Amino acid sequence: MFAEIEGDRPTRNDWNRPGRLEDFFHIYQDWRFDWFDIADMIETAETILEYPMVDRDPVECWVFDRVALMGDAAHPMYPRGSNGAAQAVIDARTLADCLDAHDTVAAALGAYQDARLPATTKVVLANRANPPDIINIRVEELVGDKPFDDLDAYISQDELRALSDQYKDIAGFSAEALQARGDGKP
Ligand SMILES: Cc1cc2nc3c(=O)[nH]c(=O)nc-3n(C[C@H](O)[C@H](O)[C@H](O)COP(=O)(O)OP(=O)(O)OC[C@H]3O[C@@H](n4cnc5c(N)ncnc54)[C@H](O)[C@@H]3O)c2cc1C
Repeated sequence: MFAEIEGDRPTRNDWNRPGRLEDFFHIYQDWRFDWFDIADMIETAETILEYPMVDRDPVECWVFDRVALMGDAAHPMYPRGSNGAAQAVIDARTLADCLDAHDTVAAALGAYQDARLPATTKVVLANRANPPDIINIRVEELVGDKPFDDLDAYISQDELRALSDQYKDIAGFSAEALQARGDGKP
């Protein structure tokens, strides 16, 4: 189970710190349903981990001589939309393609940086302003954070698709972007 809490002040960024029940249990303490006792599940969890919702400003250079950054070392992003590892995989694929296509390591690393740095900068910035779960945020606004049973009464399928497509374009997952690769590679 995953709980996201927005605080009113920044806390220390530490990805290895255990979470504390008292920091968030009050939100879920009444979530006891006859079909699922969520509060009990949380209280009896063997492990609680805390993961800071943070990123870093995009940087201008990933290549230093024969060393190149990739993955989280290159573009740590606000963790929304299941995208950190996905972008790291695209980095790896791009780097492999560049090493294959260029005669020198320097040229390959330069081409890799040219291809991936601007692309991931857009993702890092989009994750701050227009994250992929903007769909959830928008629907929550439209329904007034109340239960609902007919999504179509609040938002059209076209608007939902547009919100989703906008992020796919930025992240390089749109059908057009994948088809444009045209080499059959995933
Ligand atoms: C809770 C959580 C959920 C996530 N969910 C998703 C998701 O659903 N989808 C998604 O795409 N992404 C997700 N991410 C993000 C994703 O995990 C990261 O973006 C991804 O792991 C980055 O991969 P990486 O190889 O760049 O870095 P890491 O996975 O951090 O790998 C770096 C490695 O280097 C090792 N290392 C560090 N220092 C040294 C050293 N000095 N010497 C030797 N080794 C060293 C570390 O131990 C580590 O194994 C999630 C992250 C978290 C924390």
